Amino acid sequence: MPRRYGCLVSQALKIDEQRLQSEIDALALISENPPPVVTRILFSEADTRGRAFVEKLAQDAGLSARQDAAGNIFMRWQGENPNLPAVATGSHIDGIPNAGKLEGVVGVLGAMEAIRALKRSGFKPKRSVEVIVFTSEEPTRFGIGCVGSRLLAGMLSAEKAAALKDRDGRTLEDFRKKAGWNGSLSSVRLPQNCYSGFVELHIEQGPILDQEKIPIGIVERIAAPSALRLELTGVGGHAGGTLMPGRRDALLAGAEIALAVENAALNSGSPDTVATTGVFRIEPGAVNSVPCKAHLEIDLRDTQARTRDAALAQIEQSVPEICERRGVQYELERIATDAPVTCDPRFVDLIAAICSKLNLPFKRMISRAYHDSSFMAQICSTVMIFIPCRNGWSHRPDEYSSPEHIKTGVSVLAHTLASLSSSA
Ligand SMILES: [Zn+2]
Repeated sequence: MPRRYGCLVSQALKIDEQRLQSEIDALALISENPPPVVTRILFSEADTRGRAFVEKLAQDAGLSARQDAAGNIFMRWQGENPNLPAVATGSHIDGIPNAGKLEGVVGVLGAMEAIRALKRSGFKPKRSVEVIVFTSEEPTRFGIGCVGSRLLAGMLSAEKAAALKDRDGRTLEDFRKKAGWNGSLSSVRLPQNCYSGFVELHIEQGPILDQEKIPIGIVERIAAPSALRLELTGVGGHAGGTLMPGRRDALLAGAEIALAVENAALNSGSPDTVATTGVFRIEPGAVNSVPCKAHLEIDLRDTQARTRDAALAQIEQSVPEICERRGVQYELERIATDAPVTCDPRFVDLIAAICSKLNLPFKRMISRAYHDSSFMAQICSTVMIFIPCRNGWSHRPDEYSSPEHIKTGVSVLAHTLASLSSSA
């Protein structure tokens, strides 16, 4: 029988927004760059200190912390029935170069304040509640995002993860050992439904809530990217001496493919399909020379696997057809195909009910960026709560959400955790 969730809303729950703001500001100072710039790259000194900062807060809040072999940190508030699968929340504290102080952080420090507020209100959870700090949500060091949550969900193998290399050729395995993250990476994977649910609080990183002046977004679906890399080899020659019949122009093959990419997205049948040829380099790149080589990188996203995969297949079919017709050789590689996510509709409805009881306007929406939630959703029911950020700006030092909006998001998160952790 599907589990039902009662909606618990308590006026006794008070968020300490000043304390939370001061913690956000303190963590922002732990950065590789002077304020207001926040840069915390995996395995940097700032990343290590940021982790210690969060673990200290967990200790002060009476949570027990453990870390897995991939550096994911789990901070647990023991429930009355510790044998029931716990409810999890959390996000990440790593930040790309030249980032702001909120992205990811709101979901970690906000979760900590949500738990403190629940404790202060006298609430006792049936299920345990865990705050997770995921390792390397940002792809800065290893070129792949969500390393920690991919490993937890079994979407990245331990062997592949260990062999990930940064720009200087240093592997994750080397870094990990030096950082004292003991144990085998293959121990990181979690079993299906080891959590009864996962909720991530995050800034929207888009302009909709800010423009429409709505304090809460409830994410129903998370779009997922897939990426292709394409090398085209034609035949070069003098722009004057090579007559048009029989040319094997790599750029023209690439141009036709770029149009096929656009076409695949336009005709997918879903308004959420977006496809971009974001990289297109040619050689030799001289005005009087027929291009002999082209390098293309293609990004394709959708909120539904069916339409995304159909568009992907259409692009992959058009490549040999175009290249054969133009006498151009090709190498086509799928770099990534992550799965789009449908959030648990019961969680979406629960948060909507909480917002209604709290008299908060809300909007059901789509996340067009992917998050650790994308991977947690592979092992348990998942949902995301969005708060507005000014102009939709993110990944820049002037990223901003008002203290009021942060407080509101934490309050909704706290009520969601209370409801989920009370369910039998
Ligand atoms: Zn994030």
